[in-house]
Amino acid sequence: MLATGVKPRVPTIPGIDHPKVVSYVDVLSCAKRVGERVAIVGAGGIGFDVAEYLLGDPDESRVPDAFLSAWGVDASVRAGGLDGQALERPRPRKRQVAMLQRKSDKLGANLGKTTGWILKAKLRDAGVEMISGASYTAIDDRGLHYRIDGTERALDVDHVVICAGQESDRALYDALVARGAKPHLLGGAKLAAELDAARAIDEATRLAVGI
Ligand SMILES: Cc1cc2nc3c(=O)[nH]c(=O)nc-3n(C[C@H](O)[C@H](O)[C@H](O)COP(=O)(O)OP(=O)(O)OC[C@H]3O[C@@H](n4cnc5c(N)ncnc54)[C@H](O)[C@@H]3O)c2cc1C
Repeated sequence: MLATGVKPRVPTIPGIDHPKVVSYVDVLSCAKRVGERVAIVGAGGIGFDVAEYLLGDPDESRVPDAFLSAWGVDASVRAGGLDGQALERPRPRKRQVAMLQRKSDKLGANLGKTTGWILKAKLRDAGVEMISGASYTAIDDRGLHYRIDGTERALDVDHVVICAGQESDRALYDALVARGAKPHLLGGAKLAAELDAARAIDEATRLAVGI
């Protein structure tokens, strides 16, 4: 059974090989450092997660007290578990972030119902610029160029993070098939579109029960 997952899709934009371009994998794995002005191409769940990551203090995901403070949790549960003052304290803004998508819908429309509003509120409070209906025209030394309603615009940024979907990673599958093996494919390796963990787990469970 092969569950080798996905690799980031690389969109066709003139200048996509420019040194300012990084993938979400580069960012989240800390393989590449990102500057203070960032444009995120693609505003699905991963785009929102990357924006939240870039705006936050890395300690928020490592140090319990920093996490509680950032999310306004009162661990002593004196006032229902909510530290209202923490939420009102302005958080230092680490970066200037803009998010773009090609669709003309509101950004974040497909985020999960239970937690999506939190991400959207957090990004709004941090002043993230949300741009929909963008056609990307170029990436160069200046930054990201795009067109909206026939008007050319540009974002002067240090980096452009690509969060434009995924493709199945079938390198190992193809190599095994070439040797005459018949592996089962699962999860993102089988179908990258609209993937979530529940679907991958469901497929694996059904396959395991069925063989
Ligand atoms: C930033 C981000 C946020 C996400 N948030 C959510 C969320 O909130 N909810 C949700 O349901 N889903 C979320 N997902 C999607 C979820 O992670 C995937 O749906 C799920 O991980 C798919 O599982 P998988 O087993 O197909 O692949 P993966 O979990 O990606 O696992 C693939 C594994 O195969 C390994 N591998 C690849 N090639 C080889 C090889 N040749 N030899 C050995 N090992 C190999 C890889 O290293 C990797 O460990 C998120 C994804 C990302 C990137």
